[in-house]
Amino acid sequence: MPDPSAQHPATTAITAGRGHSGSSLAPALWASSVWQSTDMDDARRRATGVRSGEFYGRYANPTVASFEDAVAALEGAEASLAFASGMGAISSVVLALCGNGSHIVAQRQLYSATLAFLQGPCARFGIEVTFVDGTEPGAFAAAVQPGRTMLAIAETPSNPLLELVDLAEFGALRGPITLVDSTFATPLGQQPLSFGVHLSLHSATKGIAGHNDATLGVVSGERELLDEIWAYSVLHGATPSPFDALNALRGMRTLAVRTTHQNATALRLAQELQSHPAVAAVHYPGLESHPQHALAVRQMRGFGTVFAIDLAGGAPAVERLLGSVRLLRVATSLGGPETLVCHPRTTTHASLTDREASEQGVSGGLLRISVGLEDSGDLLADLLHALSTAG
Ligand SMILES: *Cc1c(COP(=O)(O)O)cnc(C)c1O
Repeated sequence: MPDPSAQHPATTAITAGRGHSGSSLAPALWASSVWQSTDMDDARRRATGVRSGEFYGRYANPTVASFEDAVAALEGAEASLAFASGMGAISSVVLALCGNGSHIVAQRQLYSATLAFLQGPCARFGIEVTFVDGTEPGAFAAAVQPGRTMLAIAETPSNPLLELVDLAEFGALRGPITLVDSTFATPLGQQPLSFGVHLSLHSATKGIAGHNDATLGVVSGERELLDEIWAYSVLHGATPSPFDALNALRGMRTLAVRTTHQNATALRLAQELQSHPAVAAVHYPGLESHPQHALAVRQMRGFGTVFAIDLAGGAPAVERLLGSVRLLRVATSLGGPETLVCHPRTTTHASLTDREASEQGVSGGLLRISVGLEDSGDLLADLLHALSTAG
C-alpha cells in the first residue's frame, strides 16, 4: 500500500469518503430520517451516543458522514461536521461556543450574511463583537480580551475584494478558538488547520459541491471540539440534506481538475484586464500587483476562482456591462461551472450603509466575477466586448 499521507490532494479527492456505500463506486443516497433498534439497550446506545449514526436524521446520516469524511481528509482534519448551509455552519458554531457576555473578534471584510449575523442576532443575544481590519498585522491579537474572547473569525480570501488574512499569525492567536471561512480557497487552495487554526469552514454550496445543485456548509477540526459543536447543532437543527451531501460528494471527485482550470482562467482574465482603460483596478491574489501577493504565495496552493474588477466609469458603466455580457451570467454565487458576474453594492452588499461600503471598498463600480469552466478565450472575448460598451 502506498503511504496515504504522501498522497496528493487531487488523489485524496478521489479516494476519500467511501465508507458508507458498500462496494458501490458511486456514493449511496441514504434518504432515511430514522433507523430502528433491536432492543432497549440498542435504542439507548443509539440515542445517547455522540454523533450517533443510524438513529435519527438530525443526529447523523451515512451519506452526510461520507461527505464529512471526504472533507476531513482534504482539510487534514480529525473530523468534519456538515450543516444545511454555510450560514447554518457559521451560526451553529458561534452559538455553540458563545453566550450572553461572550466576546468575538472578527474581521470587517466578511461575507455579508456573516457580518449581518454578527451585528444582528449576536448583539441581541448579548454576544459582543469587535471588528478589525483582517489585513492589518497584529489586529486580531490586539482586540483579544483574555478570558472573555471565545472566538476569532477570519475569512480569507475575503468576499468580495479577495483580501487575505495571514494564516500563520491567525493560527498563533492565544485564547480564543480560531475559525477561518476558507470558502473562496476550497480545501485544495489552502489548509488553515496546517497553520494551527482550530476550525476551517466552507460554504460547500460553492466550489466544493461546484455545480450549483447543493446548499451545504461544513466545518473541520479536532474531533473533541466538533463533538461539542455537534451537541449544540442537534438542537439548532441546521441539518444537511443527504441529497445535497450526495451531490457535494460527487462534485468533490472533480474538485482538483475544476479548480486547476478555473484558477488558470481567473489568472489569465485578471492579467488581461489589468491594462484595460475601462478598468480602474483588478483584485486577485494571484496578481503580482495584489498588495498581499507574497502572502498568497506563502499560504495558498491555488489563488482561487474569483476575482473582482473596479470599473473606472462607476455604477453607470456597471449597468452597461451587465446589459451587454452574453456568456457571463448575472448571478451572485461562485465555484460552479458557469462564469457569473455580480454587482456587490446592489446585491450581496445592498444592506450596508454608504460608510460601511466605503470602509470595505465595495464601490459602485465593483464587479465580482466567479470564473467557471468555459474556455478562457471565449470568456475574455465576452468581457472585452462588454467592456467596450462600458468604457
Ligand atoms: C456563500 C458563502 C457563505 C454562506 O454560505 P451559504 O451556503 O450560502 O449559507 C459564507 N461565507 C462565504 C465566504 C460564502 O461565499
